[in-house]
Amino acid sequence: MVGSFLTRRRFIEAGGSIAATSLIASAGTAAPGQTSGAASVKGQPMPDGVKLPATPPRPRAPDSVGFAIVGLGGYALNQMMPRFKDAKRAHIAAIVSGSPEKLQRVGDAYGIPANARYSYEDYAKLASDKRVDAVYIVLPTGLHADWAIRAFAAGKHVLCEKPMALSSADCERMIAAGKRANRKLMIAYRSHFEPYNLEAMRLMKEKAAGDIRLLRTEQSYRMGPTSPAENWRTSRALAGGGPLEDYGIYGLQSALYLTGEMPESISATTFRPTGDPRFAEIFAHVSSQWRFPSGAVAQLVSSYDSAGINFAEVRGTTGVLSMNPATSYAGQKMQLNGRELTPGDPGVQFVGQIDHFANAVRDGTPILTPGEMGLRDLRLIEAIYESARTGRTVKLAPDAKMRA
Ligand code: NDP
Repeated sequence: MVGSFLTRRRFIEAGGSIAATSLIASAGTAAPGQTSGAASVKGQPMPDGVKLPATPPRPRAPDSVGFAIVGLGGYALNQMMPRFKDAKRAHIAAIVSGSPEKLQRVGDAYGIPANARYSYEDYAKLASDKRVDAVYIVLPTGLHADWAIRAFAAGKHVLCEKPMALSSADCERMIAAGKRANRKLMIAYRSHFEPYNLEAMRLMKEKAAGDIRLLRTEQSYRMGPTSPAENWRTSRALAGGGPLEDYGIYGLQSALYLTGEMPESISATTFRPTGDPRFAEIFAHVSSQWRFPSGAVAQLVSSYDSAGINFAEVRGTTGVLSMNPATSYAGQKMQLNGRELTPGDPGVQFVGQIDHFANAVRDGTPILTPGEMGLRDLRLIEAIYESARTGRTVKLAPDAKMRA
């Protein structure tokens, strides 16, 4: 069974559909969508399919920003770390991992000096490491807040993976810690640096489909779990409610940047099957319906238990924009009124966000995807869960706080 499955990462890259079937049992006590506070770091084996560089990359600019990569998992090793060689102004200066084997193999391949390979226990020592300007947090989500705050305490800037955290309260703690330390905080929302999504934003702003009336997003795949990367995704303490935070957040983001509006109300429903160990702690599906002040409505669906899709569609008064896959690593497809658009190479999104953050660190330029954006999104996620829990429509203020 395990041998025939496509990993989640390969699935998202392919933008295709899969069925993954191996299971893991886990149990929890907190309600889905809330954290139990039991998250702690734990090194994992080398993920499958990692290609390490044959020759270590070198910084390209004298003022290159030195990054410490925190968590050597699938996304860090397969997507982000290989892209640093193309960064104009950033390089990998240190690595942090709970796996001595990965510290050695990855450290050797990337040319990281032995004294810049840190265990989690040694994390605080980053404070005195002048080679490191910034920390890239690419740990399971339930660990983002504490490890970002500790990075700020060490005087480092923070690039944090999505979703920013598992609660708006944690996002607020992160933002406050960054301000106290006078350091930058960026959420790695890569679609803001990806040509298809940038073009879609521009087209919708120019009303290329007229006034927006309807928007639909769907992010789903059928999860194992069969690998370390999928195991933590079934843990409430590490992954929150599950598919919405992990994958559906792309649809949530699309709904906001394609309409250019904040929703004024949300109604939602969740589903968690009984007797399926994958969903002992997290939801299988999360579906929500949004109404915007303009009168536009949106429907957002995310699932860990249905054939894969990564889709966004906007229907306006005069046309339709369709994206499928919408927010993949590669292979985006986009049509406006049936006409295929090919605005650029989606592959640039990874290094685009690295350079954007490096420029903010060095020149103080504004961050397109700051902590406040991550906070906004967690507020919306909380509103979705609140509506699903109560069975009521939740009304929202313009900053996404729930109205009483
Ligand atoms: P992985 O499971 O592949 O990697 C996570 C790594 O975190 C592990 O390899 C391990 O590294 C470290 N870790 C520390 N403590 C734990 C723990 N208790 N359980 C599991 N891992 C632990 O996950 P991903 O790389 O897929 O995801 C990491 C983050 O990146 C998440 O926040 C996710 O949402 C985000 N992500 C973003 C994507 C995007 O497109 N922007 C795509 C995929 C993920 P080590 O062994 O070195 O200690």
